[in-house]
Amino acid sequence: MAQQSGIDVREYGVKITIPDSGASIRGMVALTIERRVRHDSVLTLDLVGMTVDSVIVLSVRPRQAREGFTYDGRVIRVVLPPEPDEMWVRIKYHGTPQDGLIIGANAHGRRVAFADNWPQRARFWFPSVDHPRDKATSGFVVEVPAGWRVVANGVRNATTPAIEWDESHPIPTYTMVIGAGEFTVSKHRPAIDGGDTIPIEVWTYPEDSTYADSVPFRRATEIVEVMQRLIGPFPYENLKHVESSTRFGGMENASAIFYAEKPYVERKMGEGVVRHETAHQWFGDAVTERDWPDIWLSEGFATYFDGVIGAALDGDTVLANSMRANAESYFKSDVTDRPIVDSGYAADPIKLLNANSYPKGAWVLHMLRGTIGDSAFFRGLRTYYRTYRDSTATSSDFQRVIEKEARTNLGWFFHQWLYQPGYPQLDVTWQYDAGAGKVLLGITQRQKLEWGLFRLPAVTLEFRGTNGATVRRDVAVSASNREASARVDVPFAPTEVRVDPDGKLLLRVTIGRR
Ligand SMILES: [Zn+2]
Repeated sequence: MAQQSGIDVREYGVKITIPDSGASIRGMVALTIERRVRHDSVLTLDLVGMTVDSVIVLSVRPRQAREGFTYDGRVIRVVLPPEPDEMWVRIKYHGTPQDGLIIGANAHGRRVAFADNWPQRARFWFPSVDHPRDKATSGFVVEVPAGWRVVANGVRNATTPAIEWDESHPIPTYTMVIGAGEFTVSKHRPAIDGGDTIPIEVWTYPEDSTYADSVPFRRATEIVEVMQRLIGPFPYENLKHVESSTRFGGMENASAIFYAEKPYVERKMGEGVVRHETAHQWFGDAVTERDWPDIWLSEGFATYFDGVIGAALDGDTVLANSMRANAESYFKSDVTDRPIVDSGYAADPIKLLNANSYPKGAWVLHMLRGTIGDSAFFRGLRTYYRTYRDSTATSSDFQRVIEKEARTNLGWFFHQWLYQPGYPQLDVTWQYDAGAGKVLLGITQRQKLEWGLFRLPAVTLEFRGTNGATVRRDVAVSASNREASARVDVPFAPTEVRVDPDGKLLLRVTIGRR
């Protein structure tokens, strides 16, 4: 990966020609760059497996153009003049992308071209600082065979004869995409938010259009409206949902979400993926993880908001069911011995697409909400979004915002859930003392030693008696002792005890009568 220290890419202007046959492309990229550290004189750009024809550095004051670069097949190095700090770099190149821009037949046998960049595959088709920390605005001019349509991030520029799309908000390179082929485009009801109107379109292969509009995207507008109500304004100019040949089930490209074509063709596409990818526009695209180990800020959030949006549209059981499924998929995963914030996979981000980043990340948000309450939780998320929109954030940035809104120190919470592996496994034993009217409880944390101990300030126990009597009591579990005991008042002889009956905690429990 190109290591870019003090030079920031502000804008990518990419011109690509998609051929009538074969997969060889011609490209020209104009980068606007800004030097942030004086004397930083070498611009390094990722570009894999292409032929570079020319590199020109242009500056306005002093007006000059210079050529000269080295390219080793993976990285272009361009020596910059000592002044000024803002420059343009124009690179012409050609070749057949080994990855990142996939040109070929779709599920219906028609020729299409789709970019698919995550995590660092933009570098296979255009020169870039291919890392989420360096977000930039983008513009794509795409020349395509006759009869094709083109979609990309942002807004279609109607003033040029060529097909040009421009995104005026900085976005990560892993979401900078083009899609080209024969599409049917249907307009859904726009989402209105204050004075802003967000057009929403569904781009599909013609064969799948009626199905897509009426099943998975039936509530595309309502989904955006829920997120606007809970978190804040939609971050981009519009939203396109695009059927594509992405290798992922869905890929949250900023303002132009790409979905895998197979579920359309098989007519098996659900709404969950639409909720997940739409939520990413706020979390992942607008607020981007500064580095890969913090990817739960993207995937954990999108996984949680799939359930939260579902609950807002169809009732709370949607969220409860989704959290139960999230717990099960995490428990049976092979990453329980690793923490969520996992620097061990930084060189291979694809390994971070795991049950820590998705379902356990969703559980961190769910438990945070349970710990600080709905109003501090959503206030905190709104502040976090407003503060880091169009920028990048770390887990500590998120923690700082939440602690401020909740007016409490949550170091213990974030430490145990983000940086400790595993989850609490409680052995709960109980015995009723009829004379005292109390239940005597023994609680042991029996998870592996390497996972450490967990602090659970309020574990709800539900005591059930004969004739339908029930009473609930909260007990605190401390992280300082593996074994603890407690006595709680219960006004009847229980016949059954349930732990965490509402599913508020990520834990496993065994319960036994002493
Ligand atoms: Zn996702």
